[in-house]
Amino acid sequence: MTMESEFSHFYKRTQQQRLSILQQTRGLTDEQRAILEAHEAHADAPQLIENTIAAYQLPEGVAVNFVVNGRDYVVPMVTEEPSVIAAASNGAKQLARAGGMTATVSSRLLTGQIVLSDVKVYASIDDWVALHQTELLETAAAAHPSIVKRGGGPKLVRTRDLGEGFVSIDLSVDVRAAMGANMMNTMLEAVAKVIQTKLHHTTLFSILSNAGDQSLATASCSIPIAQLAQEDAEAQLTATKMAQASQIAQLDPMRAVTHNKGIMNGVDAVVVAMGNDWRAIESAAHAYAARDGQYRGLSQWQVNGDQLVGTLTLPLPVGTVGGATTVLPLVAVNQKIAGIQSPEELMALIVSVGLAQNFAAIKALVTTGIQQGHMRMQLRSLAMSVGAQDHEIDDVVTQLKTHQDPTQTDAQQILTQMRKERADNNAKH
Ligand code: NDP
Repeated sequence: MTMESEFSHFYKRTQQQRLSILQQTRGLTDEQRAILEAHEAHADAPQLIENTIAAYQLPEGVAVNFVVNGRDYVVPMVTEEPSVIAAASNGAKQLARAGGMTATVSSRLLTGQIVLSDVKVYASIDDWVALHQTELLETAAAAHPSIVKRGGGPKLVRTRDLGEGFVSIDLSVDVRAAMGANMMNTMLEAVAKVIQTKLHHTTLFSILSNAGDQSLATASCSIPIAQLAQEDAEAQLTATKMAQASQIAQLDPMRAVTHNKGIMNGVDAVVVAMGNDWRAIESAAHAYAARDGQYRGLSQWQVNGDQLVGTLTLPLPVGTVGGATTVLPLVAVNQKIAGIQSPEELMALIVSVGLAQNFAAIKALVTTGIQQGHMRMQLRSLAMSVGAQDHEIDDVVTQLKTHQDPTQTDAQQILTQMRKERADNNAKH
């Protein structure tokens, strides 16, 4: 049998049928099948994707101590990475003592592009679009009229010469509280038809851009240097080193990638908790990090008098309605936990999480080192990776702490020995 015939009409099969096919063709054991069954998507859970076989669960926690624009926030975060939530909460706590973070949203528009190929004279397209601007905007609005009723809608059309005969006609839309991908694509296709019939130029494709550079949010904070350590000299040294670490991320792309990964640890976790498209946010963030041609750190820390000042700007084209936000029941709960009232407030909170996360990471990096803070959670992960149960984890972690560089083999030996001793004890009693 070919794979095509084995998986023919797989999308029409029930969950049990799909598992049977996988078990037969992929050699799953009964235990492995049982794991999938235990993670079965709830019967009335939303079917967001195709060929579903299980509901893959990630842990959700809340980061605490966030003060943004004078408001207190509890922040739902979904992540599989230990220490992220602890670091965010810890960073936020230190920043809250200094008055918290300030966050602003400079604009909130989504852009899409209609790309033309084989353009001989760019100016002829540019002139035509300028002349027909109103008609093109009206066409876009008519393709999704409800967004206009909500106070949003198409705002701007402009052209860009991409070179080599390619031209992009960019449409910017106020998508209100939505992320807007679907409404944008609907509008673009309507506008593309007008271009084809009236400009008589075929279009190569039409799709939103995930660049997000018209949906920027900035968080900033200013923390008294004296707050960074008990001794003044140590606090001053910490501030200087944190500013230098930030500078290195501006100079060295190899470091910038890791610097930004730390920021995205927090950002992605909130974006996922809020039911948004984290691939879109990741792509946008990294493109923004390379906007001047070199990939750089997204945040910057500087010593300014007796203060350490941090800023972070991120493209955050997120929504609070539509897409998975409407379908996944946990998202509404998470919005309630965070107390989010608008997409702008969500953007402000996400960028603040990124800044607090980065503050905690850089401070740890130049002081205690990143491993010390991570160690407890890492030892817990190590214990769990060898099968320690909830009631065994603390004991395994306590013993692992006595090892120089604890490994999985150490954890396995400790667990085996511990279980043996317990069994012996039980036998004695
Ligand atoms: P939807 O298609 O669900 O559209 C959102 C809808 O919400 C609107 O059409 C609107 O419908 C309704 N709505 C209710 N209240 C409001 C409000 N206050 N403001 C705005 N709209 C409101 O989702 P999106 O268009 O936002 O698309 C997001 C999804 O698209 C995500 O799941 C994403 O993963 C996916 N996607 C992403 C792509 C990409 O990033 N490249 C490409 C394609 C899809 P109405 O006005 O009619 O009531």
